[in-house]
Amino acid sequence: MIIVMQRHAPKESIDRVLKEISRYEGLNPVPLIGTERTVIAVIGDERVIDERHIASFPDVDKVMPVLHPYKLASLETKHERTVIDCGNVKIGGDTVVIMAGPCSIETDELMDEAAIAVKKAGATILRGGAFKPRTTPYSFQGLGRKGILMLETAAKKHGLVSISEVMDVRDVDFVGNHIDILQVGARNMQNFDLLKEVGKSKKPVMLKRGLSATIKEFILAAEYILSQGNQNVILCERGIRTFEDETRNTLCIATVPIVKGISHLPIIVDPSHATGKVKLIPPMARAAIAAGADGIMVEVHPNPAKALCDADQALSVAEFNDLMKEIKPIVTAMKRKL
Ligand code: PEP
Ligand code: MN
Repeated sequence: MIIVMQRHAPKESIDRVLKEISRYEGLNPVPLIGTERTVIAVIGDERVIDERHIASFPDVDKVMPVLHPYKLASLETKHERTVIDCGNVKIGGDTVVIMAGPCSIETDELMDEAAIAVKKAGATILRGGAFKPRTTPYSFQGLGRKGILMLETAAKKHGLVSISEVMDVRDVDFVGNHIDILQVGARNMQNFDLLKEVGKSKKPVMLKRGLSATIKEFILAAEYILSQGNQNVILCERGIRTFEDETRNTLCIATVPIVKGISHLPIIVDPSHATGKVKLIPPMARAAIAAGADGIMVEVHPNPAKALCDADQALSVAEFNDLMKEIKPIVTAMKRKL
């Protein structure tokens, strides 16, 4: 169930409800604090509580059942859109955010060069993978913790927000201590222990859609993170696996408006992993923004032919500059900013 507090309900009233729910064994109240209204989702077997008893508490507006399987991610629960605060970059607000950088972190020099180039073109978030989920164990696996520090150094030096994937629960604290946004990759979308761990970390988390996950499963995976008390969840559509083999994956653009209709969480589109081909990335980036995406994540490498990972989909700096110019009128048409 969802307990909707009255607008601007005082903290004491919210705390009283939280305390009351916590008295029941097996029930966990999770508050979602909005600027106007706080709602409290009750996690667990709620049959043990009497709705009317909770409804009688001071400043409780209403107690509602939740019709969808997702509670905290639902727009029905929280009407205000979530804007994630990553220092001077906000994800989910007026600005369409651009995340760019190499697939994998290779050297300090690469990260420095990439940071300079993507910043100059207008990106505000620097990407780079240190823990790489490669299909074969014989491919480059990433630099691990050493790579995380390289990304941190380059991002800080150039005033960019950083994002990197974490694959193992044992690395969540380390990555969270050095990087601004934790990424959960497509292959780990249903690694429930990892979802719970990043949920406990309270850092912004970008969750990528699983290769064969339905939208419902995708949002339920986000629900795992939210139910640990971490409200800072960003969704990322990165294409799904279909019978089509002209593209690496099939970009499901409809995910953007579907998610916007179901959830208050921001959604980013990754046209790089979705298509796997340089030529297709700019048109798909334009389509994503036109569909209402809150941002895009693009792989950019100063020397694509030499990229240690995903070379076929790495944009050169010149190609990324062109992409940024091409998306500008679309961003404006959507009444948003870059
Ligand atoms: C990535 O962004 O580096 C990545 C591996 O993407 P995905 O999990 O979507 O395949
Ligand atoms: Mn990649």
